[in-house]
Amino acid sequence: MAISTVNPTTGVTEQVFEAHSTEEVERRIAHADEAVKILRGTSYAQRAEWMKATAQLLEAEAEELGRLITLEMGKPIAQSVAEVRKSAASMHFYAENAEKFLADTPLEDPSVVGASKAWTTYQPLGAVLAVMPWNYPIWQVIRFAAPALMAGNTGLLKHASNVPQSAIYLDTLFERGGFPAGSFRTLLIGGGAVAPVIADPRVKAVTLTGSEPAGRSVASIAADHVKKSLLELGGSDPFVVMDSANVPAAAATAVRARISNNGQSCIAGKRFIVHTDIYDEFAAEFARLMGELVVGDPMDPATQVGPLATADGRDELAGLVDDAVALGAQVLVGGSAPQGEGYFYLPTVIAGLNDEMRLVQEEAFGPVASLYRVRDREEALQVANQTAFGLSSALWTNDAAEEQWFLERLEAGAVFINGMTVSNQELPFGGIKRSGFGRELAAEGIREFCNLKTVWKA
Ligand code: NDP
Repeated sequence: MAISTVNPTTGVTEQVFEAHSTEEVERRIAHADEAVKILRGTSYAQRAEWMKATAQLLEAEAEELGRLITLEMGKPIAQSVAEVRKSAASMHFYAENAEKFLADTPLEDPSVVGASKAWTTYQPLGAVLAVMPWNYPIWQVIRFAAPALMAGNTGLLKHASNVPQSAIYLDTLFERGGFPAGSFRTLLIGGGAVAPVIADPRVKAVTLTGSEPAGRSVASIAADHVKKSLLELGGSDPFVVMDSANVPAAAATAVRARISNNGQSCIAGKRFIVHTDIYDEFAAEFARLMGELVVGDPMDPATQVGPLATADGRDELAGLVDDAVALGAQVLVGGSAPQGEGYFYLPTVIAGLNDEMRLVQEEAFGPVASLYRVRDREEALQVANQTAFGLSSALWTNDAAEEQWFLERLEAGAVFINGMTVSNQELPFGGIKRSGFGRELAAEGIREFCNLKTVWKA
């Protein structure tokens, strides 16, 4: 894919960028490696001061940067600006909490290991490569970079090829906030040029958010070089609604869970699994609300659903729906791409699914909701867990015993009860099964790219 900004609302190529040469990539890796030595000599207090100054830049530039996000990937403008503000808040959070999260832990009774004193201490690894996607072009990067830099690591960003202007903005952001030059550098390269960067001895670890094929490739190259990797891949999250649930509230939340970010979120509710006793009520309300959404220009504040980020993404989504319909599924609302320019797809609810359909197994990365009718909790669980993914899940019930039963059995990295999944800086984030491994955010996230050193003293 060319490194370019293509406005998904119009399909017009706005700007094309030349990829960095091998020499330029080498220069930037060297820069990040030199900065490791400088950052290591700084205190948490110093890094926190720089991080807060960087957050203030983001806050001040939120409106302008929001417009850039919407231009490059098409999410509604209010969501773009909110993404920038959330990123800034997360920088403050890590500025304030990094030292606490990475504090030394003493062994209570060192005599049991024959020591006068024993403890563990967290130390930075060095330069870490982040391979990042376009769906949250600022937040996905900041949720890696804020903890990484606070821990004393430096960051190298290989951003998705369709958000180069966001990548260029991020290249200078931390230096503008006061961090030593080289603390964070963007590499303008395609996916095919990532392997030698992972292999480079100055690069100590890699994190990737994106698709399963990209994750498999990056993690296997890292494994070849015995380097740590963290993968945050796709999801096909279940949204289970049981008969004790508040149905109107569940339906309204289901809409937000499905269409936020134009439906292109790994943690979106994608499969809506509904108890038969309330199925008809839920389906009617859900389809009504999905059908009423305002689809259009994402720069217009009234728009609730904008275009998909790329033509390929739109075609892939349409292919999943068409395949299901050809095999007998029923479209309750939507089910097609509207006429006209841009990569739009109508908010869709589809039911009557069976295992022959690709939609049942694959991730629908856009505003398409799959609806399943189930007779009891056993069947609900079976449908919820039948996917190869295991990122997050949502459960709607007012029965405490049922809640406990599900949360012990749902195969996912998280369960959100009577709500929808969102990422919070205070809570760990990550998946199991083919959704990846490792955790981002909270204390667990900052520790992923640290050496937990054990110290024993006679
Ligand atoms: P990709 O996984 O292809 O892109 C994500 C990032 O990985 C980009 O920076 C991309 O670079 C890079 N990349 C791709 N292939 C490789 C590779 N072999 N080696 C190294 N880096 C690589 O996602 P797509 O944009 O193609 O989206 C496809 C699907 O992935 C979506 O439909 C969705 O299912 C899933 N996805 C999940 C996301 C999540 O949040 N978990 C986010 C985005 C996508 P480049 O752009 O240059 O190819």
